[in-house]
Amino acid sequence: MSSFREIGERLESLKKFVGITDKEMLFLKKPMKTLAFKIEYEKDNGKKEVVDAYRVQYNNVLGPTKGGVRFHEKVGEEETKALAFWMTLKCALTGVPFGGGKGGVRINPKGLSDSELERISRSYIKNIYKDIGPWKDIPAPDVYTTPRHMAWMMDEYEKLTNKHAPGAITGKPVVLGGSKARDIATAQGGVFVLLRMLEKLGMKKEKTKIAIQGFGNAGMNAAKILAREDVLIVGVTDSKSGVYNEEGLSVKSLVKHKEKHGSFKGFEDGESISNAELLKLDVDVLIPAALCNTITKENAGSVNAKIILELANGPVSIEAENTLEEKGIIIVPDVLANAGGVIVSHYEWVQNNTGLYWDEKEVLGRLKKQICKALDETYSVKQEKKVDMRTAAYIVAVEKILRAAKLRGLV
Ligand code: NAD
Repeated sequence: MSSFREIGERLESLKKFVGITDKEMLFLKKPMKTLAFKIEYEKDNGKKEVVDAYRVQYNNVLGPTKGGVRFHEKVGEEETKALAFWMTLKCALTGVPFGGGKGGVRINPKGLSDSELERISRSYIKNIYKDIGPWKDIPAPDVYTTPRHMAWMMDEYEKLTNKHAPGAITGKPVVLGGSKARDIATAQGGVFVLLRMLEKLGMKKEKTKIAIQGFGNAGMNAAKILAREDVLIVGVTDSKSGVYNEEGLSVKSLVKHKEKHGSFKGFEDGESISNAELLKLDVDVLIPAALCNTITKENAGSVNAKIILELANGPVSIEAENTLEEKGIIIVPDVLANAGGVIVSHYEWVQNNTGLYWDEKEVLGRLKKQICKALDETYSVKQEKKVDMRTAAYIVAVEKILRAAKLRGLV
C-alpha cells in the first residue's frame, strides 16, 4: 500500500477520537496544490537529460507551506504527497507557523557530478519559482540534498525574482543566512525527545542499547549526539553496509571510517551486519533514519526493540504497526521525533526576515523547549485517550488544523 493511501486510513481511524465531518475529511485528505513537471538539464558530456520532478503544497491554513526537496531515484507523486501531509501535521503539532509541503526530483544523485547537481537544482527552481517564496512555500534539504544544494536554489530564486530573499529557502550554509545548528537540528530534536521519553517511561538512560538505520544527516548526527550521552550505540547501517558490536561502537571511528571508505565495509571493531539483521537486534531503542517503509509486515515480527524513534519519515508501514503494538513496542512517531529540522528551519526563516542572528546555544535552548512541549502534549493525550503515540500526535495536530480551517471559513 502506498504511504499516501495509508494516510487516508490513518485519518479515518481518527474519527473515533476527533469529530471530523465529511467535508473536513476531504479537506484533510486532499493536497491544496500538486505540481508535477519535467526538468531538463545538461550532463557534463553535453547531452540533455529529462527527469520527473514534483512540488506538493499540501495545506497552508497555519502558514506558508514548508518542506524539503528530495533527490532520489524512487521519488514519485504519491510519496511526495505523503511527505507533504506529514509536514503539515509536524508543523501543527510542534507549533511551527507553517503549513506542509514537499518536493523531489527522480534521479539517482550518486552518479552525478557537482556541476550536474547544480544544474538540476537550478532547473528545479526555474520550474517553480513563481509558486514559492518566504510567504508562500519554502523548500529545504531532504534525502540526498544538502546546504550546498540550498545555496544554488536560493541563488537561482534570487536571480529570477531580482531581489534578496534568504527566507525563501532554509537549510542554507550559515554564511548565506543559514541558522546555527540547522545541520544537526533533526537529530538533536530526536535526541531531546528520546531522552524525555526514557524519563517518562522510567527507563534509565545509562547503557541504553541503540541501533541506527541510515547514517546520513539524521542518523549520523544522532549517533554523534548520543555518543556524548552514556548510551551504547551497538549497531549502524547505511545503504551498502552495516556493523554491530554489543559492547558499543565508537562513533568517532565509524564517522572516520565512512569518510575514508564511503561505507562501513572493513570496519574492524565490530562484525558486519545487513539492514535486515539490524532490525532484529535485541536493543532498547531502534532508530530508523533512512527511507519510508523499511519496517513492514514482513519484518515487524522480528523487531526486538522496546522503543522505535522514527527519525526517518514514514519508516513503519501501517500493517507493521499492529504487529509492533502487539509486541508492546512504543513508536515515537516521525511527526514528533524528526520535527527538530523544521523547527530550526522556522528559526532560520525568522532570523532571515528580521536580520538578527542567534548563537547555537540560543537555537538549541529554544529547540529543546519547543519539541519537549510537543512531546508532553502528545504524551498527555496518549494517556488521557489511551491511544498510541502516533494517534495522539495526529489528534493534537488535526484538531489544530481543523480549528484554523474553520476560523478561515474553509470547512
Ligand atoms: P541523507 O541523504 O543525509 O542520509 C540518508 C541515509 O540513509 C544514508 O546514510 C544512506 O546510506 C542511508 N540509506 C539509504 N537507503 C538505505 C537503506 N535501504 N537501508 C539503510 N540505509 C539506507 O538523508 P537524511 O537527511 O539523513 O534523511 C533521512 C531520513 O530522515 C529521511 O526519511 C528524511 O525524510 C528524514 N528527515 C530528515 C530531515 C533532515 O533535516 N535531514 C528532517 C526530517 C526528516
